[in-house]
Amino acid sequence: MSGVVTRDIHLSFGATPVLRGVDLDVEHGHTACVIGPSGSGKSTFLRTINRLLEPSRGDVLLDGRSVLGEDPDRLRRRIGMVFQQFNLFPHMSILRNLTLPLRRIRGVSADEAEAIARRQLDLVGLAGKADARPGHLSGGQQQRAAIARALAMEPQVMLFDEATSALDPELVKGVLGLMADLAGEGMTMVVVTHEMGFAREAADTVVFLDEGVSVEAGPPSQIFEAPVSPRLKQFLSDVL
Ligand code: ADP
Ligand code: MG
Repeated sequence: MSGVVTRDIHLSFGATPVLRGVDLDVEHGHTACVIGPSGSGKSTFLRTINRLLEPSRGDVLLDGRSVLGEDPDRLRRRIGMVFQQFNLFPHMSILRNLTLPLRRIRGVSADEAEAIARRQLDLVGLAGKADARPGHLSGGQQQRAAIARALAMEPQVMLFDEATSALDPELVKGVLGLMADLAGEGMTMVVVTHEMGFAREAADTVVFLDEGVSVEAGPPSQIFEAPVSPRLKQFLSDVL
């Protein structure tokens, strides 16, 4: 299958098992949302997809091929990631935050990197902020810059880890809107989120993670309207 598949992912930190069997199926062009309680292993799981962490058991397939034998640097060129805390370089302009990885990792020329970066910033509504430092932008603008930086690499897949959790409430909508646009344009995405409204509307499939196990998965209509497992029912009654 083209897209992202994980099978029976296990991972421990020391003697503590954190992932104990996580399965995910996201078709090319689709969006999966991963939901679950704090500490259930969502961030850890997301990091196994681009090999920031290595599972002790199980497999991650990208377009049908295991990523586990692949060079991690090459893999991260194909899989973009957006973090809760943006991870922009604070001492560089927004433009340079985008051009640096383009030059270093994709190896494009300075002129081309600037053209690509300016185009991406324009697409996320930040054309006027290219020369500003991250600290001079709102959290929402910084997150949109981080998304633009990832998109500039032309990834096959985008991973989002609680991309709106650090934002003031009034800034959340703009970032979720950008993510929904990307999903609508056919980007393949795996989105860890607390935003159940986003999961309901933008996801093709929702995976509920609890204590390191993918307990239940299905289309949003099924997960939110007809949950089966008692743990998912409890989780939804806590958050909705
Ligand atoms: P979530 O993102 O769902 O809140 P995490 O994946 O961050 O959950 O964490 C799952 C569990 O693994 C938690 O108990 C957390 O304390 C533990 N954990 C996460 N990262 C590490 C680490 N680097 N070393 C040890 N334990 C960790
Ligand atoms: Mg997390």
